[in-house]
Amino acid sequence: MAEIPEASACDVIVVGAGPVGMWLAAELHRGGVRTVVLERRAERPPHSKALTIYPRTLEQFAMRGIAERWTQEGRPVPSSHFAILTNRLDFSFLDTRFPYTLFLPQRRTEELLAEHLAELGVAVLREHAVTGLRQDADGVDLDVVTPAGTTSLRAGYVVGCDGGNSVVRACAGIGWTGEPSTWTAILGDTRLTDPPPGGALTLNQPGGSIYMVALGDGRWRLATIDHAIIADPVGKPVTLGDLRASALRLAGTDFGMREAADTWLSRVGDETRHAAAYRAGRVLLAGDAAHIHFPAGGQGLNLGLQDATNLGWKLAATVRGWAPEELLDTYHAERAPVGRDVIADSRAQCALFANPTPAGIALRDRFNEFLGAHESLRRELALRLSGLAVGYGIPESGPASAVGARVPDLELRAAPAPSVHGLLRAAKFVLLALSPADGPWHSPDWLAGYRDHLDVVTAELADKRPDWAGVRALLIRPDGHLAWALRDPDPPAGPPLASWLGSLSGPAGH
Ligand SMILES: Cc1cc2nc3c(=O)[nH]c(=O)nc-3n(C[C@H](O)[C@H](O)[C@H](O)COP(=O)(O)OP(=O)(O)OC[C@H]3O[C@@H](n4cnc5c(N)ncnc54)[C@H](O)[C@@H]3O)c2cc1C
Repeated sequence: MAEIPEASACDVIVVGAGPVGMWLAAELHRGGVRTVVLERRAERPPHSKALTIYPRTLEQFAMRGIAERWTQEGRPVPSSHFAILTNRLDFSFLDTRFPYTLFLPQRRTEELLAEHLAELGVAVLREHAVTGLRQDADGVDLDVVTPAGTTSLRAGYVVGCDGGNSVVRACAGIGWTGEPSTWTAILGDTRLTDPPPGGALTLNQPGGSIYMVALGDGRWRLATIDHAIIADPVGKPVTLGDLRASALRLAGTDFGMREAADTWLSRVGDETRHAAAYRAGRVLLAGDAAHIHFPAGGQGLNLGLQDATNLGWKLAATVRGWAPEELLDTYHAERAPVGRDVIADSRAQCALFANPTPAGIALRDRFNEFLGAHESLRRELALRLSGLAVGYGIPESGPASAVGARVPDLELRAAPAPSVHGLLRAAKFVLLALSPADGPWHSPDWLAGYRDHLDVVTAELADKRPDWAGVRALLIRPDGHLAWALRDPDPPAGPPLASWLGSLSGPAGH
């Protein structure tokens, strides 16, 4: 086991080695920050909550050059669902290299992230449970229970990635607003001797809905929203007999369900909560520590990983001392609305599939008809699930090339990478000059003090997307969102480097 680092050797402590904590630690490391991850569990749990990885998450892995680790193992499914309805959402129209839902159990995602952290040399200290926290003007002290006793660790910043019951959030006094569970679903990962054909099944019945998907190796996940047991409390244990009875009620068969050593059964409720703030001084939150909701459409893991991509470079810039003053606060400003939107989406799905009244069932079935009839509705919902529509500070109807928008993986010529995402490996800002005659960036003086955090790339745009025609230069943030663009017919000008990369004396700091 890794040694506890010297207190003075750590800039940021990440609490929780779930997927979000590990990805955040990797991003912080890329930003030049000394970080350590504390995890209370000795071992990773064998089962997987999440199964789905959405396109924007894969793009974020691709920007750091590691997406193949997921795509070569996961199973691409060309569609997803809304509210477990049978008329599915086709993803193939999405403007991304990953126009699908990638099925890969969360445990594998966590193992891949753990391997990535090990390659980077970031320590994950297991059996280190955080139990208390105090912050002052310069840092945060954590009480940590280890097998060797209780110790205290100090760092400049602490990020709580410690899940829905976050101790960090509670100790930092951050509010947790929302509602307790009002109904529950059951799910089981188990073995079937008589599975349905085709690897997946969705049924919407008068008595509820059943969703099944093959996990590989003869294992299947079954989830039932069964009106007969929908009022059972979330803490009530689930047996295989409960799952079998539910399958019989909703599908007329138990699919040859058999108890196996690796069977995992659980009950999930619709408890929904959102942190009142993602930052309190030197304490920040990401992932389930900041938001929980019913796992409708499988969005929580993706949302959390994307929180981490937004936070990593901002916190690194703050720790390294080059961040503009307000930068760290933009984390809450940008990500809390995205969290609210996913929560609203999850609630809307729940309203469709978990209302056992005749009116609720009629609404569910009518909405399914609408989905089947209207491609634009299916596309809108697919785009939302994919994460590709998330933009920061742009009106929804703005052009794709508006400031704050996600920069798609635009193809390039005469560049160090064949497309834009390949320029973001180092998680630095990228100034992409597409019209070399423009702008003052030829002058080494102009960029002088920024070189550590900024790559300047001259290239030609090989892409024909209409929204990007006439764009002559871009400043791209380390998380792949647009910070600035120079377009026809703008007069030549340089990017607002000071507002993104901090003020310097001299010509660059304007
Ligand atoms: C049934 C189910 C299905 C789901 N399906 C999907 C899906 O398909 N797609 C999707 O995107 N999302 C899905 N989700 C949601 C997803 O699983 C979560 O959003 C995701 O696990 C959140 O990751 P996290 O790292 O924020 O938190 P967690 O995974 O909860 O990790 C938190 C970590 O912190 C550790 N920890 C906690 N307290 C402390 C402490 N005091 N000190 C030290 N360590 C601590 C924990 O041991 C844990 O390892 C699903 C959830 C459920 C329940």
